[in-house]
Amino acid sequence: MTLKESWFNTIKKTIKLAKNAGFCYGVKRAVDTTIKLKQENINKSVCVLGELIHNSHVIKELETLGIKTLDSLPDNGEGICIIRSHGESDDVFREVQKRGFELVDLTCLDVKKVQSRAVELVQNGFFVIILGKKEHPEVLAISKNAQRAADNHDNVFVAPNINSLKEIENKIKNSSKVGVVLQTTQTKEYLFEVVNYLMPICKILKIVNTICPSTSLRQEEAKKLAKNSDLMVVVGSKKSANTTHLAQLLSEITQTIHIENEYELDEFNNLILNANNIGVTAGASTPDKLIQKVLEKLEEYNIERTK
Ligand code: SF4
Repeated sequence: MTLKESWFNTIKKTIKLAKNAGFCYGVKRAVDTTIKLKQENINKSVCVLGELIHNSHVIKELETLGIKTLDSLPDNGEGICIIRSHGESDDVFREVQKRGFELVDLTCLDVKKVQSRAVELVQNGFFVIILGKKEHPEVLAISKNAQRAADNHDNVFVAPNINSLKEIENKIKNSSKVGVVLQTTQTKEYLFEVVNYLMPICKILKIVNTICPSTSLRQEEAKKLAKNSDLMVVVGSKKSANTTHLAQLLSEITQTIHIENEYELDEFNNLILNANNIGVTAGASTPDKLIQKVLEKLEEYNIERTK
């Protein structure tokens, strides 16, 4: 063995899993309650309006248990219809009941808080800015409820990025009061960027930090782990907003890959072989089983798992 080879062999390669990885309390409550409802109502139809969580593995498992996912509401409903943790607008709640379903609301309490803060702001005369993507179901419900409470729908605006705000700068400057809420899984970095932009141009600015505690904890812990890792692996659906935000955030600190399952690791062989300290984290809708499979596959690269 050459000196160089023996030096390489002395470097200990490690994998470390973040403590706050995988299901958050809102998702866990939604999944556990849905399964329990089906077990208790074996002869009744149980369905969820939209995917319960953004994870195809979990959706398939629910299907095998007889829990259907509805893309849209049928004219005549029967049995139980579940509102997922992302929430829905009041109009949808009414429609579910009108079409004959028994409604079970599993909206996460942290999402409910954002909805009510946005409504309060609009009722108090604020021009309300919601930070998030327009098409995300959680954002859709927050904005629809706020618009319903507003005299004028133009008093509610969804901002996916800072440029979208710059496009309505005149509207912001002409508003006597501006209020900001965030989709629960946004990053505080985006919030700071928005506050820095709005501060000099608003007469009155009210910021309600509605990032949920579970998301803050997950992001802060993952950032610390990324600082001590030369590769971060983020596990979770590419459709999941919180997982995508997490991957973006970590990619600003260290080399980061976002995978949906253990097989995708094959595409990153070189990066994995060249990394000495690999950190692993996962989005709020990623089941433990999937995280374990990723860890096991990483161990096949002869990397030791540490606590
Ligand atoms: S990410 Fe936060 S708001 Fe969303 S379900 Fe989980 S705990 Fe609730």
